[in-house]
Amino acid sequence: MIIAIDGPAAAGKSTIARRLASALDLAFLDTGAMYRAVTWAALERDVPTADAEGCARLAQELDLDFDPEGRILIDGRPGEPGIRSSAVDDAVSQVSAHPAVRRAVVPKQREVAERRGVVAEGRDIGTVVFPGADHKFFLVASAEERARRRAAQIGRPEEQATIEAALRRRDELDSTRADSPLVRADDAVLVETDGLGVDQVVEALLAHVRGVRS
Ligand code: C5P
Repeated sequence: MIIAIDGPAAAGKSTIARRLASALDLAFLDTGAMYRAVTWAALERDVPTADAEGCARLAQELDLDFDPEGRILIDGRPGEPGIRSSAVDDAVSQVSAHPAVRRAVVPKQREVAERRGVVAEGRDIGTVVFPGADHKFFLVASAEERARRRAAQIGRPEEQATIEAALRRRDELDSTRADSPLVRADDAVLVETDGLGVDQVVEALLAHVRGVRS
């Protein structure tokens, strides 16, 4: 079984996907972590993030895997918390927009799903990576709510406005790129999460999966 969850930045996709995976005994696949890993490695090794070929070479060479909890391993070492830095936040949309980078990363995502069923989350899962997914969801929330949640999560409510500006910029870049833009698949269920708690969203998705199944 493959479940695809797409949506804009900080819409709660990872939290929801992780919970859904555990409820359904599937693996959790955080595809954003893979683009973050390539970006992190480019910054570490002074490969310019505008250099499509250099970034693609890195994407091919890096060993990207996941530990049993679904956290990324880069050449066998934990990618957290480095991949969540603001430097990576600022550069990742440029790196992920290079078609050659995507050509290197997407097969690795499909490999994970060949091993076992997954709940995969990202931007192009239902449209490009797994267009035949059994279930597809597109999670949205207002930029304000997403920034508020993210600021609360990192314990810095005073940074909400800065976070919102960064999220909006990333969404704009991700939605307007030529290769695999952030867009809702025609057959994805739209889930608006403003005002909803994590439990409510997980329940809604589970009900959908179970309802369609039976
Ligand atoms: O999901 P997360 O915010 O960690 O993703 C980081 C970035 O990786 C996104 O802003 C986007 O540029 C890229 N990404 C992508 N395709 C995916 C997942 C993430 O291009 N499937």
